[in-house]
Amino acid sequence: MADNSASSGRLKYEAGFAREVYGMENGSYLKLCMQCGVCAVSCATFKIMDYSPRRLFALVRAGRKEEVMKSNTFWMCTTCLMCKARCPRGIPIVDVMHDLKGLALKQGYVNYPQAAFYQAFWQDLAGRGRIFEGGVTARYFLKRGPKDFGKIMAQKDVGLKMLSHGRLPLRPPKAVKGKKELMQMVAKARELEQKGAN
Ligand code: SF4
Ligand code: SF4
Repeated sequence: MADNSASSGRLKYEAGFAREVYGMENGSYLKLCMQCGVCAVSCATFKIMDYSPRRLFALVRAGRKEEVMKSNTFWMCTTCLMCKARCPRGIPIVDVMHDLKGLALKQGYVNYPQAAFYQAFWQDLAGRGRIFEGGVTARYFLKRGPKDFGKIMAQKDVGLKMLSHGRLPLRPPKAVKGKKELMQMVAKARELEQKGAN
């Protein structure tokens, strides 16, 4: 599917979108992109992305918000860092992908399962500083709703095997030491993020 789902029908241009992306923590690096395509040929998941990183960045510049935000590209990024290591302009592509994920979540572009997983993982982690696999799984499927019931059933044998090997705890772990300080750090990070957004 790489680079070939450029859209059909009317194209919508949103003048402020490129500025919005440039305003993100790593977004301004995109101004350096010279569209060489090294990131695309270096990317292991390029073939299952709607757009290669190179193409995605061109769409950002062109103000094509809906195509960027609805694409699976940043959700398919495995953060392998290959593109970042090879980009001749030194663009931290993987960090831009993280920023785009954050923007998508904030603005409600959450149709991909990865979006639900990111939210479930973070909500579980932020509560105690440690992950409870059962909690993440439950949150994930609650977010995805009945449409993923078949997937739950398909995974049941894996879950049972993990249980029998003691790899799937039934009770949540204790919170980390210094949970209060952790919460303060999270609150501070959110405050800074909010300030950056204004
Ligand atoms: S490798 Fe870097 S400069 Fe080349 S297209 Fe990708 S992001 Fe742009
Ligand atoms: S970090 Fe993401 S975009 Fe870059 S090569 Fe790896 S999977 Fe592809």
